[in-house]
Amino acid sequence: MMAKINSNYRKLNAGYLFPEIGRRINEFQQGNPGVKVHRLGIGNTTEPLTPEIVRGLHKAIDLLADVDTYSGYGDEQGETALREALANFYEKRGVTLNPDQFFISDGAKPDAGNIQSIFSMNNLVAFQDPAYPVYVDSNVIGGRSGHYKPESGDYAGFVYMVCREENNFIPDPPAEKVDIIYICSPNNPTGAVATHAELRAFVDYALENRAVIIFDASYSEFIKDMSLPRSIYEIEGAKKCAIEINSFSKSAGFTGVRLGWSVVPEEIETEDSEPGELHRFWLRRQTTFFNGASNIAQKGGLAVLSEAGQKECADLIAYYMENARIIRESLHSMGLKVYGGVNAPYLWLKTPGKMPSWGFFDKLLSEAHVVGTPGSGFGPSGEGYFRLSAFGHRADIEEAVESIRNNLVL
Ligand SMILES: *Cc1c(COP(=O)(O)O)cnc(C)c1O
Repeated sequence: MMAKINSNYRKLNAGYLFPEIGRRINEFQQGNPGVKVHRLGIGNTTEPLTPEIVRGLHKAIDLLADVDTYSGYGDEQGETALREALANFYEKRGVTLNPDQFFISDGAKPDAGNIQSIFSMNNLVAFQDPAYPVYVDSNVIGGRSGHYKPESGDYAGFVYMVCREENNFIPDPPAEKVDIIYICSPNNPTGAVATHAELRAFVDYALENRAVIIFDASYSEFIKDMSLPRSIYEIEGAKKCAIEINSFSKSAGFTGVRLGWSVVPEEIETEDSEPGELHRFWLRRQTTFFNGASNIAQKGGLAVLSEAGQKECADLIAYYMENARIIRESLHSMGLKVYGGVNAPYLWLKTPGKMPSWGFFDKLLSEAHVVGTPGSGFGPSGEGYFRLSAFGHRADIEEAVESIRNNLVL
């Protein structure tokens, strides 16, 4: 007998999107030395932490430096004060959650990837298509898919909910019965935001079919239109069927600091679980595999949730959203079709003349020297679309847009 590996990893479609983008940029630079390449492709924050939050982080280090205030491992589900502050944060938008329902984490991506481990391998899983890749990939690794089909760009055994112009990039619940549904709103990559009615359709579906919704709300703070839901728990009945994942990464610039949270209500039921069991399994999973987010980051999170911190973060978000407006209006004035960028920091461009995503990538790079992300990299229904990101310094965004305006041949 020999050790055997988790062969589900072999099923993963080689993650070639970002390496391939890098390769094409290098090739372009070699053929065009000295030409400046503008990046509108990154999903990474660029602006510094704000003063109140920096103060909170500094204070946390000072506490660690003193024997009287030093602390080691913290509370199992994360610092009580932070969970209380989060409960208060939700309360202000009309959602009542108990601090015990929160699990502080080192970010939304780890939670989005790990959450599948508390569910049976025998669940049928549905995803938005296109989607942030971790939902699909973690379920492939968890053994819930068949093989990858290169000709169609999807996996056997998964249900894909197509997001296209015709449905404003928000799908209806699946026609068939599925067990787990991943929804991201505001959406990366499309920038679309589900309305109350659209989310209610999913919650009703989940309650009817005893399905569980994994709701990624990482961009909730980018919603400007206050009639749109910023939490799935704004929908009645959601506590019985939905887990919500969120993060300080995009709204407070914590992409490198690392801090997020998940809400796993005790009320969630599955076909075969006892009341509260799913919540207890997530606690078990986290206490077994994870020893808590950095106590420094958690103090930073408390500063983010303070009144002054919230005001600063609102300004930070407004900065990125002004970038989005600049990109959106410029492209629109050129006659291009652009979606998103109003309540989310991503713009989803329909490629002109039904050009394939990678063809448009090459055209934008060679003519305007601008890099974006091919939509097909987020799933088969992303073909013919292109993602532009509003994360960047204003001057860089303006230069990139100017170059598109002056040089892109339409
Ligand atoms: C950026 C992003 C995340 C990652 O969040 P972290 O907290 O940095 O791990 C999660 N979900 C979506 C949709 C994202 O775009």
